[in-house]
Amino acid sequence: MANKADDKMSRLVSLCKRRGFIYQSSEIYGGLNSCWDYGPLGSELKRNIKTFWWEAMTNRRDDVEGLDAAILMHPAVWKTSGHVDEFTDPLVDCKTCKSRFRGDELKDKTRCPVCGNQTLTESRQFNLMFKTFMGPVEDDTSIVYLRPETAQGIYVNFLNVKNSARQKIPFGIAQIGKAFRNEITPGNFIFRTREFEQMEMQYFIHPSEDEKWFEYWKGERWQWYLELGIRKEKLRWHEHGPDELAHYAKKAFDIEYEFPFGWKELEGIHNRTDFDLSRHQDATGKDQRYIDERFKEKFIPYIIETSAGCDRTLLTVLVDAYDEDPSRGEKSTVLRFSPKISPIKAAIFPLVKKDGMPEIAVNIYKILKTQFKVFYDAGGSVGRRYARMDEAGCPYCITIDGQTKEDDTVTIRDRDSMEQTRHKIAELADFLQNAVE
Ligand code: ATP
Repeated sequence: MANKADDKMSRLVSLCKRRGFIYQSSEIYGGLNSCWDYGPLGSELKRNIKTFWWEAMTNRRDDVEGLDAAILMHPAVWKTSGHVDEFTDPLVDCKTCKSRFRGDELKDKTRCPVCGNQTLTESRQFNLMFKTFMGPVEDDTSIVYLRPETAQGIYVNFLNVKNSARQKIPFGIAQIGKAFRNEITPGNFIFRTREFEQMEMQYFIHPSEDEKWFEYWKGERWQWYLELGIRKEKLRWHEHGPDELAHYAKKAFDIEYEFPFGWKELEGIHNRTDFDLSRHQDATGKDQRYIDERFKEKFIPYIIETSAGCDRTLLTVLVDAYDEDPSRGEKSTVLRFSPKISPIKAAIFPLVKKDGMPEIAVNIYKILKTQFKVFYDAGGSVGRRYARMDEAGCPYCITIDGQTKEDDTVTIRDRDSMEQTRHKIAELADFLQNAVE
């Protein structure tokens, strides 16, 4: 079973490289462990996922504002948030084979799972934050951290956003951005990396309404994954038990996805109470309280957080869309992305490179290109061109054939059903618009 899962992942990884979704970082230098680069199709897919999140979480709502905070923040932020003292994982080394493990992930705490020797060190706490220096002098006073989460950038801007956007509680702040964690055991392709992107939203509420808003955001976030096209039966909830709850959280639920390597967290929804704003108020002396007309009181808002990983969502989308369909012949791989996020929305083919077909095809390509990411391909048989587009996850292939000149129609081949239907050229843009909405 494990081997089958490994096979599927390794075939997906090789497809990602071959088709330009994801490459190993610095590959020509032998690669850098746990760092990945997104190629032409991958960067497009990632951008589409981020746009889909941003639209759902901010632009389509009146109560959530966007933010783009700096990666480097005042080092005191991380002291206040608890990251300097508590953002650690237990690190265990094997003295024989030099393998490293997260102590909490070891089933048998006495024996090395790689070489089998009873030569594991005591577990010691390892801080996951990356450090660097600000300015030319490298000493303790110039240490800054690469942020390990985007959330703190939101908390320290709570008052700025509230005042400048004239928002009233309940309201939220959403942000997409890079985060860095010096993970002990990165792996499973882009599932756990040391540099990754988060899509986080912090919703500020009156403490008495925390249950209501927690349930509300659970519902919204679950629905978002369904709208992204993820199969419902591959998603489930996991509630954090008392031993799993982070020190700041009153309640936490993860949305999990069934990857080939098991059920794993995709996103966390957390009730962070007034922990963060209270800590920042205590540390800075800046009043974070909110005056509420409804409740006629001054209070520090509670925060409901929705915290998703962009790269992890992208891996989910890839795994969920990946299919091998033998009915398509030898080249049988197809990525069944939702058209909303597929990197290429349509490919345009002249059936043959003569009889005026390429000219019409190029013309259609140029028109559609102003609205959609489309791709022109005249190379090889139509079957091969379809197969290439199936692997790229392109939902529609538009072919210009002999009939086009007679009645201004083309065929649209649907990636999933493989059916072809005829459409007027003038209706193509509307067809694609409906499909991607
Ligand atoms: P874990 O316990 O697995 O290390 P976490 O519970 O600390 O993770 P959060 O701090 O809740 O994770 O992060 C929120 C989201 O950010 C996660 O659900 C995940 O999608 C993403 N994420 C966190 N760490 C990584 C990582 N190292 N690589 C990729 N994505 C990550």
